[in-house]
Amino acid sequence: MVSTHAVNEKGHLVLGGIDSLELAKTYGTPLFVYDLALIRERARAFINTFKEQNVPAQVAYASKAFSSVAMYQVMKQENLSLDVVSSGELYTAIKAGFPVDRIHFHGNNKSKEELLLAMEHNIGCIVVDNFYEIELLKQLTAEHNQKVNILLRVTPGVEAHTHDYITTGQQDSKFGFDLMNGQADLAFSQVYEDDYIQLLGLHCHIGSQIFETIGFKVAAEKLIKKMIEWHHDYDFECTVLNLGGGFGIKYTKEDTPLEPSVYVKEMIMVVKSLIAETNFAMPEIWIEPGRSLVGDAGTSLYTIGSEKEVPDVRNYLAVDGGMSDNIRPALYGALYDAVIANKVGEKADITYTIAGKCCESGDKLIEHIELPKAEPGDILAMFCTGAYGYAMASNYNRLARPAVVFVENGKHQLAVRRETLEDIVHLDLPLSMEKE
Ligand SMILES: *Cc1c(COP(=O)(O)O)cnc(C)c1O
Repeated sequence: MVSTHAVNEKGHLVLGGIDSLELAKTYGTPLFVYDLALIRERARAFINTFKEQNVPAQVAYASKAFSSVAMYQVMKQENLSLDVVSSGELYTAIKAGFPVDRIHFHGNNKSKEELLLAMEHNIGCIVVDNFYEIELLKQLTAEHNQKVNILLRVTPGVEAHTHDYITTGQQDSKFGFDLMNGQADLAFSQVYEDDYIQLLGLHCHIGSQIFETIGFKVAAEKLIKKMIEWHHDYDFECTVLNLGGGFGIKYTKEDTPLEPSVYVKEMIMVVKSLIAETNFAMPEIWIEPGRSLVGDAGTSLYTIGSEKEVPDVRNYLAVDGGMSDNIRPALYGALYDAVIANKVGEKADITYTIAGKCCESGDKLIEHIELPKAEPGDILAMFCTGAYGYAMASNYNRLARPAVVFVENGKHQLAVRRETLEDIVHLDLPLSMEKE
């Protein structure tokens, strides 16, 4: 087990003070269970570090990790801001009653309709990604005689992943304006004198599942250097520096993430020291954690069904979900840890491969895991599935998407109900054309 999860007197895994077997029985499987206490703890750790250091900041939940009305309401309770990347996520935020002035709109191909929806709701900030978007925004804001706040998303030529980072002269990314080859300067020149577009500052997002602070440091240096240049050349006052997300979490025992406060303190230190060399006011620092807010707060519960032994090769253990509710292992080899929730104390001495029930040989959730002898009906608890699990779920093989439950200190509630067979055919229309 990754961390010491609570176990009760029956030897059952406990989530948020509740027996996981009870949750599986009450809500069925597959089931996503989110422990809100952990989400709140993380949110507060990010926010309080900025407060303690007396640095104006916004901590925005990068909500593509898991988007739902109730989750947005949790983030609202914790005074976070919110990143959305589509009209679907924006609409969810509106439905959740999320404060619009704290919504930031991302995306590398926002449509006219999406930008109009953002303008209609007067959201706090649009993170502008490309020249086409600048054109669209100029046109729409002038047409509607409406001002918008923007950040320019730039690619600083820093790519961070887990334990290392690389500086590339020119970054091969579909996102943002290149900081080095003149694109960012051209974008700046197109917006900074515009009557409707208010440029607040710069944004970058350098990677995901990052365990070191060096990448953030190098990126911040590059952004501030550009800020100083634009101030010198155009008198531009940068009020926001958004350094993105990507803070790592512990999927397996090999992962060694830093505390939220460590990432934040390092960012503050770098920005403060560089700003101190200028006569600028300290900009607001914005960050965008996604997986580090919800990833390890989420646990997937599955019911174990069939088993297949391939002699001398492996034992497949099949569960009632799979790539349809967690595509990350199949998509990019993501690793997870798991236990049998009703056999937590028992000796884990059999090596299994956990397979999903989708018609793809690649539909494996865990390649090798030591578990106690499993039987049909046992409940498998897979940890750390709260980010990019449900969010990437599909109806492949017409499997119904799981339910999502929130737990906290012995309380529980349904946050997303399970899809029904009726839901599955809900969009289908009968054939109406005659047979030729
Ligand atoms: C995905 C994303 C994030 C969050 O990444 P995590 O790895 O989930 O923290 C933050 N900012 C932007 C722009 C993103 O696209």
